[in-house]
Amino acid sequence: MKTIGLIGGMSWESSLEYYRLVNEFTKAALGSFSSSKCLMYSVDFAEIETLQHQGDWERLNELMVEAATKLYKGGADIIVLCTNTMHLCSYAIKNAVPIPFLHIAEATGRAIQEKKLEKVGLLGTQFTMEKDFYKAVLKEQFGIETLIPNEKERTQVHQIIYEELVLGKITNDSREVYKNIINNLAENGAQGVILGCTEIPLLIKEKDVAIPIFDTTTIHAQAAVKWALQ
Ligand code: GLU
Repeated sequence: MKTIGLIGGMSWESSLEYYRLVNEFTKAALGSFSSSKCLMYSVDFAEIETLQHQGDWERLNELMVEAATKLYKGGADIIVLCTNTMHLCSYAIKNAVPIPFLHIAEATGRAIQEKKLEKVGLLGTQFTMEKDFYKAVLKEQFGIETLIPNEKERTQVHQIIYEELVLGKITNDSREVYKNIINNLAENGAQGVILGCTEIPLLIKEKDVAIPIFDTTTIHAQAAVKWALQ
């Protein structure tokens, strides 16, 4: 079994899920006493969140490279960055460490392709929905088209992430907001929806919506275990 290096803390609410999932998938594959060989380097999200909203992606690149390097030096065989948004730093990480980097949008693209869907909605932070780094991977590597919510809805999705989900606050009101937004995406032609923020699966489950969901936390953790056990 190879060792998975997890860059966590963005937020720790979702890092907990990653830790649980990599262990559950390993146990499911190898039997009852088996668990994942993994390392997690967990950052201070207060620092990250401030830099994100200041648009200081250069400093964020440095911090992500620092985290990946610590994992590499600690013995990790692969880097798994436990957040969609911070994949804006994926090039910097890939260039800095000599071990593979498991891109969350690539893992998600493969899962969508397996379901043979061509057009999906994308929910995440404004960085993930509005910038190109995530949608481009889906389009260029998998031919998948993404639909994003309108501006007002994007603001709501983003605010709920930063004011509630990353702080561990899960409410029915916000679940209703997300359900309506997902319904609107479906009406506009989305055949499925990417929960493209690793905390959204804490709020929205398959049963809440009429179209298939792509839970990026689970997809990413599962792909990491599959790689580690190859
Ligand atoms: N975990 C979230 C994501 O998957 C948001 C927190 C962050 O900005 O990293 O995008």
